[in-house]
Amino acid sequence: MKRVLHSNIPIFLPHLACPHQCIFCNQNHISSQNDVPSPHEARTIIERNLATIPRNYDIQIAFFGGSFTCLPLEIQESYLQVAQPFIENGSVSGIRISTRPDYIDDDILRMLKRYRVTDIELGAQSTNDEVLRKSGRGHDRNAIQNAADKINAYGFQLGLQMMLGLPGDTLETTLQTARDIIAFGAKTTRIYPTLVVADTPLAKLYEQGKYTPLSLEQAVEWTSRIYTLFVENNVTVLKVGLHPNKDFTSNKYLLAGPFHQSFKELVLSNIWYEQFKPIMRENCTNQNIIIFIPENELHNAVGYNSHNRNELLKTYKNVIFKTDSALQNYEYTYCHN
Ligand code: SF4
Repeated sequence: MKRVLHSNIPIFLPHLACPHQCIFCNQNHISSQNDVPSPHEARTIIERNLATIPRNYDIQIAFFGGSFTCLPLEIQESYLQVAQPFIENGSVSGIRISTRPDYIDDDILRMLKRYRVTDIELGAQSTNDEVLRKSGRGHDRNAIQNAADKINAYGFQLGLQMMLGLPGDTLETTLQTARDIIAFGAKTTRIYPTLVVADTPLAKLYEQGKYTPLSLEQAVEWTSRIYTLFVENNVTVLKVGLHPNKDFTSNKYLLAGPFHQSFKELVLSNIWYEQFKPIMRENCTNQNIIIFIPENELHNAVGYNSHNRNELLKTYKNVIFKTDSALQNYEYTYCHN
């Protein structure tokens, strides 16, 4: 099957017109960008990006970072208008936006359709009402479900983003959020472990000892569980963890939480580690093992810093990984010699 290469041209509108203050959010620090591009500047960003993306890519313009549909209608339209010539001349295939579940209604969806928006991503964060309340989200689970139903009914591709480790969150509420995201018909998701960012209400709670973030180990384990659920249910995981930016990695804004430069790699490696556990329990120290895994999974199966291979070497004399195009997702077969 031919793989379609995809690229987004991201236009960050941090905190623009968002009337809320979620407990964890400081969009300026997270995106490391204080200035909001004007529609004119958005056009320049698009042109600049188009000049560097190969022609065989499927390209979308993505208005990210804030809550797009919280903006006054005329401002939303001024950004969407900028994108239209690029759709008309075929250089981009559509537009994606991210927004809040409680800023979706028929008028907004009709307008987005008119401007050829194709994908809508909602920050769901959790589907547990208590977690949503403690996180200052200002909407409940019903708002997520209603918005998801409407977006699906209008024929947009739905994405639902989630966080884990929010105040009040447990492994069970995290798993339930993932199950709900699948049940609400999302085609894509993004998974963000909660980090304590400076100048947020969560930072205050953390400093007062009223909030403890997940450890890196917990975050990797929880994310592995929900990642596998999404893969099994054909929900594409577009992102795992925040992309490290310079200010973040220098700890300028990051106060605490399970941040790791290679968080996604840790998760994918851990998923394979869990898969290999049954063959690690065998008593075969005199034998070699050849493990067949799906194509493109070699790196993850060997594990982050060869972790999985090293663990298998405690059971086997030698470990050889080979790919088999008949295998999918986290299937594997093996033989001894
Ligand atoms: S709705 Fe989004 S942009 Fe607004 S405060 Fe919450 S996370 Fe930040």
